[in-house]
Amino acid sequence: MELFGGIEAGGTKFICIVASGPDNVLAETRCPTTKPEETLKQAVDFFQEQNRKLKEPLVSIGIACFGPVDLDPSSSTFGFITSTPKPSWSNTDIVGTIKEAMNLPVAMDTDVNGAAVGEWTWGAGKGLDDFIYLTIGTGIGGGGIINGKTLHGLVHPEMGHMRIPHDMRADPYIGACPYHGDCFEGLAAGPSLRARWGQAGETLPMDHPAWQLEANYIALAVQNLVCTLSPKRVILGGGVMEQPNLLPLVRMKVTEYLNSYVQSPEILKNIDHYIVAPKLGSQAGVMGAVALAQRLVGYS
Ligand code: ZN
Repeated sequence: MELFGGIEAGGTKFICIVASGPDNVLAETRCPTTKPEETLKQAVDFFQEQNRKLKEPLVSIGIACFGPVDLDPSSSTFGFITSTPKPSWSNTDIVGTIKEAMNLPVAMDTDVNGAAVGEWTWGAGKGLDDFIYLTIGTGIGGGGIINGKTLHGLVHPEMGHMRIPHDMRADPYIGACPYHGDCFEGLAAGPSLRARWGQAGETLPMDHPAWQLEANYIALAVQNLVCTLSPKRVILGGGVMEQPNLLPLVRMKVTEYLNSYVQSPEILKNIDHYIVAPKLGSQAGVMGAVALAQRLVGYS
């Protein structure tokens, strides 16, 4: 069986796996995101060791990476993390480093596009050419598949930073985004819940007004995405979405805000199958990296 390497490169840790799919993971390691030379060396050491053990070497490696990243193949900094505020990771050549050390084809996309590709291949986006994956956790990111391709555009989407209506009387919190204050991420990511209510989201009881407000912001963002990109499904993942009442509340508010304007039975009659949780759960990112590796060599 052909095996692939996957790296979920996150701001706090790198998860590296060797797998052919979610049901066949041969090895996994996690290393903290410290300095690029340390963390990338640990990743390379892992894959080299695995390669020595395997009967047939890895076919390719995929990376679902925190950003911003340069995904333009014609750019001289293709495969780099560009201007991240994360100390020492600015201008890091991730793809080049892994490629040179492993002598294998290496694919990279954003962490959220990676997760979308994972859901596309094995999860809640299977069989769809147009869908959006939004993760709401420490930050908010959105990626997706449009016309059967990951959406890149000029750089890559930054759906977490869209502007949404903010009623200062109902919610006087100014927002946590260092760039925009009260953009979507500034109002609705995990740190803003903690700053607004004085406690972490996971400790807020289900009947706390925080969840109505949270569902409100997420539904406004989802409405914008539905009206802009016309996705055939919206997948909502990330730590904040683990509060079990939140997804039904978001569905209800999206239906209310769209107000029957988008005439599709998917939304009007079937919203429970239209706005859904990821099927791969917390594996979406790293399995997405494996799927990126497979797609690079025309495997899936
Ligand atoms: Zn922002």
